[in-house]
Amino acid sequence: MLDIAPEIDLTQILVGFGLAVFVSVAAWRLRILSINGAIAAFVMGGVIYGLGGLAWAIPLLVFFGSSSLLSRSSVSRKKIVAADFAKGGRRDWAQVAANGGLGVLALLAATAGWLPAPTAWLAYAGSLATVNADTWATELGVLSSASPILISNGKRVPGGTSGAISLLGSAVSLLGAMLIAGLAAWFLSGQTSQVILAVTIGGVFGSAIDSLLGATVQGIYYCPQCKKETERHPLHTCGTETTLHRGWAWLDNDWVNFISAVAGALIAVATFQISL
Ligand SMILES: [Zn+2]
Repeated sequence: MLDIAPEIDLTQILVGFGLAVFVSVAAWRLRILSINGAIAAFVMGGVIYGLGGLAWAIPLLVFFGSSSLLSRSSVSRKKIVAADFAKGGRRDWAQVAANGGLGVLALLAATAGWLPAPTAWLAYAGSLATVNADTWATELGVLSSASPILISNGKRVPGGTSGAISLLGSAVSLLGAMLIAGLAAWFLSGQTSQVILAVTIGGVFGSAIDSLLGATVQGIYYCPQCKKETERHPLHTCGTETTLHRGWAWLDNDWVNFISAVAGALIAVATFQISL
């Protein structure tokens, strides 16, 4: 059984950064990550494997691999709505940091002895369950034939709208959270059902918070040329300058992802404490 307790071991750190070079260069060459996204993934992957070992690296790789595969497989279908997502298919450093940053912080805190290893592990799993649930729902939810509703007021909106939810997207997000929860319980010996429950609840509520923020306070823009909402700013894909339509300009999709990941981590830790 792999151990989730972090340790400072030079060989493990070297192996971690070695593998991280391989994965991030491959992801850059496959156009999954931009150049600064690949550098961020190298640092993140190196730290996660280097201090946490294989137990910490596997959930991150499962999230990264599955979301990359999904965004590839649905790419043709996604073209319809992709124009209005904030960024293209290549993930940059801010997206990488928003998805995995909390895990790195939790692992560093556990390594320094500021946080018990099982608590840091649950926080990590809760944040990954959130971003995995959210990414799966975003990639596969757009395949829903029924148009989604806005989580804040229940109004029907076009597919791909920030804050929109669908039955398909919600079911997929539950599966995405449960996969990470299963891995979290697998590597943490004892209290298996409590860990699965806590991490699944963290992921599901974390991704619901992501949708809620997207529907309410996230900065959403409007293209006067195409007459539609978009996350793109300052220029829409058509080249027209977009104007702030709703929400706060500073609160972009990356901040929303990071805040949701923090919320998912806290909910997972709190649910686990209550369930004991
Ligand atoms: Zn436009």
